[in-house]
Amino acid sequence: MKFVLVTGGVVSGLGKGVTASSIGVVLKACGLRVTSIKIDPYLNTDAGTMSPFEHGEVFVLDDGGEVDLDLGNYERFLDVTLTRDNNITTGKIYQSVLEKERRGDYLGKTVQVVPHITDAVKNWIESVAAIPVDGKEGPADVCVIELGGTVGDIESMPFIEALRQLSFSVGPDNFCLIHVSLIPVLGVVGEQKTKPTQHSVRELRALGLTPHLLACRSAQPLLANTKEKLSQFCHVPIANILNIHDVPNIWHIPLLLRNQNAHHSILQQLNLLSIAAPPDLQAWTKMAETFDNITNSVRIAMVGKYVGLADSYLSVVKALLHACIACSLKPSIEWIAASDLEDDSANLTPEAHATAWETLRNAECVLVPGGFGDRGVRGMILAAKYARENNIPYLGICLGMQISVIEFARSVLGLERANSAEFDTQSPDHVVIFMPEGSRTHMGSTMRLGSRKTLFQTHDCISSKLYSNPEYVNERHRHRYEVNPEVVGFLEEAGLKFVGKDETGKRMEILELPGHPYYVGVQFHPEFKSRPGRPSPLFLDKGRIKGDCEGYLPCVVGSIGLILAATKQLEAYLNTHQNGS
Ligand code: GLN
Repeated sequence: MKFVLVTGGVVSGLGKGVTASSIGVVLKACGLRVTSIKIDPYLNTDAGTMSPFEHGEVFVLDDGGEVDLDLGNYERFLDVTLTRDNNITTGKIYQSVLEKERRGDYLGKTVQVVPHITDAVKNWIESVAAIPVDGKEGPADVCVIELGGTVGDIESMPFIEALRQLSFSVGPDNFCLIHVSLIPVLGVVGEQKTKPTQHSVRELRALGLTPHLLACRSAQPLLANTKEKLSQFCHVPIANILNIHDVPNIWHIPLLLRNQNAHHSILQQLNLLSIAAPPDLQAWTKMAETFDNITNSVRIAMVGKYVGLADSYLSVVKALLHACIACSLKPSIEWIAASDLEDDSANLTPEAHATAWETLRNAECVLVPGGFGDRGVRGMILAAKYARENNIPYLGICLGMQISVIEFARSVLGLERANSAEFDTQSPDHVVIFMPEGSRTHMGSTMRLGSRKTLFQTHDCISSKLYSNPEYVNERHRHRYEVNPEVVGFLEEAGLKFVGKDETGKRMEILELPGHPYYVGVQFHPEFKSRPGRPSPLFLDKGRIKGDCEGYLPCVVGSIGLILAATKQLEAYLNTHQNGS
């Protein structure tokens, strides 16, 4: 196994995850099999209990792992299916070491950070790197390891030490370190500054790790003398100084790396030049260029709770992007804080309230994504009602589906106090209830999590046709509450149809409102499996929808329907898909 370690220096938020995924893409394009591991040095066991406000979206894997959003980047870029163990945290490592200590595995010994924690990190990396993630047999050729945080952080020290030991034990031909850093430009002179990078490389070297490549983030391309300086002071050959300057969209980054021969430097370091092919990035080139040339856009109102931080809904944003490209459109996402739609929200100015409603009314479709807690719920209900009554395409994901059930029960069934047990324990009409699969007392990893089957109850519905009429679909879940099976009959009689259910028939998975152009709610999260680079059967016949999409189309069923409906192409699209062909 060969390892590529990606570390970060100077500041956080440099796009280390995207850089590391892009390096994986370039290596994969050379014919190598690539897996990845993300190390998060925080103490939480996993990302499941962290707020999206603070840390961005919690990404969910097939096996139910609640992980850092960078794993979503790896899955989308490398088209792999990762496991929860591909995300290492300090919490997980300590938990495993302490379990062993209690079992008596270290009997008689003093259990210490070095060697016990560092050994646990090394063993974890080596065993997880060997798990195939691309559906093929046997371990991958290269494992890209991304170390979260910035070099020098106290909490990442044990990991740095473990990685230093790993580099020594696997030997120089099997280890390549890429340090991602920032080259700022100061003042009116506009000089590219190398000092912060010099300092962070020095810090890394003091810890026993020497970078083989530098990936320098900058606004403008690096000047020749900046590279020379970096090379001289950081002890890295000029050919190994990569520059990731600002580009119009992230699909350019693998191309940027390829154009700078990053693959050559990495393959040389890993002694893989003889078995690797020249990188084939045709699909990426097409995707990056297609996107640059799209001129039309579609206005999508995203009504949620965590709208202050776009990363809170990263996968939803990506899924919309994939769906829009398939329709030759650019997504124009209008963020609406759900509570701004409420009449009596605390601290809300009349102007902010009016702007929120104007934005909603100007949108061509509405999306209510997942969420927890009651903040903004009344605003989301208003948005769902507005979309339902005005025939505006609506997609409700997880909480968004529960919202549409509450709204329908209130407005159509006349159950004024209808609610979810999550928001109002006293409601006489709980149309959404707690249906636990796991613990009732613990918060961490106890939701209904990961891949579950949704069986179509009929093929005469929009969702089934969009999925090409399969018997069932496997999508990822992350929720505790569900539509109350006892009210399903009443809701259906009044017109809301549950067209997808789980295998027991008790858990509602997909709802639709026949007669409405597109009113779909899903209890699962289709966004987690949306990927570019994987042609979906939905689109294999090019020309069915606008744009030349063959070859890189994602599986973006939920959002593609929404976008097609928003741009009034859905009916024509479904007519050509009557047989699910
Ligand atoms: N809070 C809701 C639940 O737990 C919805 C969760 C979500 O949207 N992911 O069921």
